[in-house]
Amino acid sequence: MKSAHESDKMTIFAHTINKTEMEQEFASRLLESAVSEFAKLPGIGRKTALRLVLHLLKQDEQEAVSFGEAIIKLRREIRYCQVCHNISETEVCPICSNPSRDASTICVVENVKDVMSIENTHQHRGLYHVLGGLISPMDGIGPADIEVDSLEERVKAGGIKEVILALSATMEGDTTNFYIFRRLAPYPDVKITILARGVSVGNEIEYTDELTLGRSILNRTLFSDTFHKE
Ligand SMILES: [Zn+2]
Repeated sequence: MKSAHESDKMTIFAHTINKTEMEQEFASRLLESAVSEFAKLPGIGRKTALRLVLHLLKQDEQEAVSFGEAIIKLRREIRYCQVCHNISETEVCPICSNPSRDASTICVVENVKDVMSIENTHQHRGLYHVLGGLISPMDGIGPADIEVDSLEERVKAGGIKEVILALSATMEGDTTNFYIFRRLAPYPDVKITILARGVSVGNEIEYTDELTLGRSILNRTLFSDTFHKE
């Protein structure tokens, strides 16, 4: 148990940090460096970073060590599937190497989070292709910066009947859809479909609820129909 004196000290210490955190005058360089690292994470400001670091300091040493080791292990040992570019611990991910999946259907997504979202719907029995981004001329991201070449290679290799475009309904998503559609034009036997856009218009895939997403996979339409009508 902490003595009253000790907890007073902690309060004064925390207060000092609050007052001076903008100037980054931390009581310890180690503390400062840990806070700076946490503050690099998305959505984590310096205040939250400090709270997290102080929390870790209060834990048993082993807890903090496992936390650090998990991050190091994750970064050093994780790989990407050679086929679909999903995160994987093996050269070919468990989805691509699962013989009961429908290898003739490829669902094209922006990132690994989208694979997880679509897997959660249990409505897609085919494989995936993770682009690793969307074409965005404004941000200087062109087709060569995402995994489009490897998608075409997969289609070219044969055995693909359908490519489902499951990108977000944003300008970047639309641009990328059109680009892929044009790139796959030399393969007329491959059906190119797009998720049905109902309530999910304007939403990023990862924020769409499972039911809506599942329904939009089932009700997907031919991509060419979407722009002939407009
Ligand atoms: Zn894979």
